[in-house]
Formats: sequence, C-alpha cells, structure tokens
Amino acid sequence: MCPHTPSCPDPSGPDREAARTVVSHPEQGWSLLCNGIIIFEDTGELLPGGAAIGPHRPTDLAACTMTMHVPTEIPPAQFRSSAA
Ligand SMILES: [Zn+2]
Repeated sequence: MCPHTPSCPDPSGPDREAARTVVSHPEQGWSLLCNGIIIFEDTGELLPGGAAIGPHRPTDLAACTMTMHVPTEIPPAQFRSSAA
C-alpha cells in the first residue's frame, strides 16, 4: 500500500500517525495517510479495518487555552501590603 522507501509505519503500529499524508482536506478536518489511516483534526482516527480511535491528544487550540490560565504576575495589591 505504501510506495515510500523506507516504508511508512504499519497502521497497527504505535507510530502509525507518522505515515505520510496522501490526501488532505483541512477544510473538512481530515487527512488520508499512505498506510490507509484517516486522521481527523481532533486527533481521532479511522483505521483501514474500519476500527475507530477517539481523540487522544489535546489539540493546539486546547493547549494554548491551558497555558493562558497560568498566573504569571503578582497582584499589585499584595505587593504593596507586604512592602509597608
Ligand atoms: Zn508511505
């Protein structure tokens, strides 16, 4: 199935998502890899045998939202009261 040399990871392998993209439809949110896997933008997958794998990684958008909640500044009110 895979025309590449060296050949891409097997669809049953843990590194299956490293196979090359042969068809990409970002406007529809999916890509077909050369090992037969369809991978969706939410990291869900559809395997060649018909099995589905649910989203298993946070998307880039979720990762950004999480980092924005980390407090990076000391509130000015606390800073003043400890100095006085
Ligand atoms: Zn390949």
